[in-house]
Amino acid sequence: MNPYERRTEAVQAALADSDVEALICVPGRSLQYLTGFADEQRERHLFLTVPADGDATFFAPELYESQLRSTTWVRKLRTWGDAGDPVAGLAGLFDDIGISAAPRLLVDDRMWATFTQDLRSVRPEAEFGLAGDVLADLRIRKDEAELEALRAAARAADSAMERVRALGSDAVGMTEAELAARIESFLADAGGDGVSFETIVGSGPHGAMPHHTHGERRIEAGDPVVLDFGTRVDGYASDQTRTVVFDGDPGAQFREVHAVVNEAQATAVDTVEPGVTASAIDEAARSVIENAGYGDAFVHRTGHGVGLDVHEDPYIVGDNDRELQPGMVFSVEPGIYLDGAFGVRIEDLVVVTEGGSERLNQTPRGWEPNPTGE
Ligand code: ZN
Ligand code: ZN
Repeated sequence: MNPYERRTEAVQAALADSDVEALICVPGRSLQYLTGFADEQRERHLFLTVPADGDATFFAPELYESQLRSTTWVRKLRTWGDAGDPVAGLAGLFDDIGISAAPRLLVDDRMWATFTQDLRSVRPEAEFGLAGDVLADLRIRKDEAELEALRAAARAADSAMERVRALGSDAVGMTEAELAARIESFLADAGGDGVSFETIVGSGPHGAMPHHTHGERRIEAGDPVVLDFGTRVDGYASDQTRTVVFDGDPGAQFREVHAVVNEAQATAVDTVEPGVTASAIDEAARSVIENAGYGDAFVHRTGHGVGLDVHEDPYIVGDNDRELQPGMVFSVEPGIYLDGAFGVRIEDLVVVTEGGSERLNQTPRGWEPNPTGE
């Protein structure tokens, strides 16, 4: 049995223990997880219906039929043509697979409202929940094939980071956007597929805005630059951050802040092992930064799960009491942001292993163009 079919059976096992009649996915990461079919949601109705009991069935536009048959394990497929009425077709499918008049249905968390409205018109008495309530628990622990893809994506990001650092003083005078374009070509050279999120090049004061992406500011000598980027391999994302100074002297406060963030990151990663809670990892990073007097400047959670989605469970945040288990993968990315001056963030992905953790990112975490001794 292929992994996709096995995952779908696990969904059905979870549904069988509940009052849910079916889980319905649209093109996106959850559908990719269950079938391998990787596409975006578009205007035509394309659903995978996974009933608690019975066969998973695609409801799809005719033009997708051969693609779905040749690239997925799902054998049941009901199509509709552009001249037909997809809502009537969907009603027929629900009747055929025995969906009751007032079912409880779990719909893809990211299903467009227009599609949920159509589901409602087919079953006005339905009660809707979120597919993520079942899928998140499956997706949170990665199997060996998923870990291999995540490692490969992390290696591609590491390779790009080494090449960016090697630019040294050549990066001074480049705009953030020019450097971002360079990073994206490095990621592609390393075998990555696109970017897993908009590349962040936060130079000087822009680094103090955690969600600044890149703009027309030119990098100056002495600027700290937050470099946060990732790519995908086989659909799985990478995400890592280094804060570097390409040339010149960044000043004493930056040196101090960078050392604090580096220590917070190392302390949090050292805390990772099975049975420890997500909140304890957040606390490990946060306490180092608070003790150094910068608690108010650490304005976000310590990390997030990474898989097919670049932000998914488990979230490494103070109120998450979830215990870590082997196979979970998440970022550890404390930061300090000094408004109007600079920001520092250091981020690696880690896998929870039986004995502790494995870092997926291996490049030096120092700020110097050619860091040593780490
Ligand atoms: Zn990141
Ligand atoms: Zn991240």
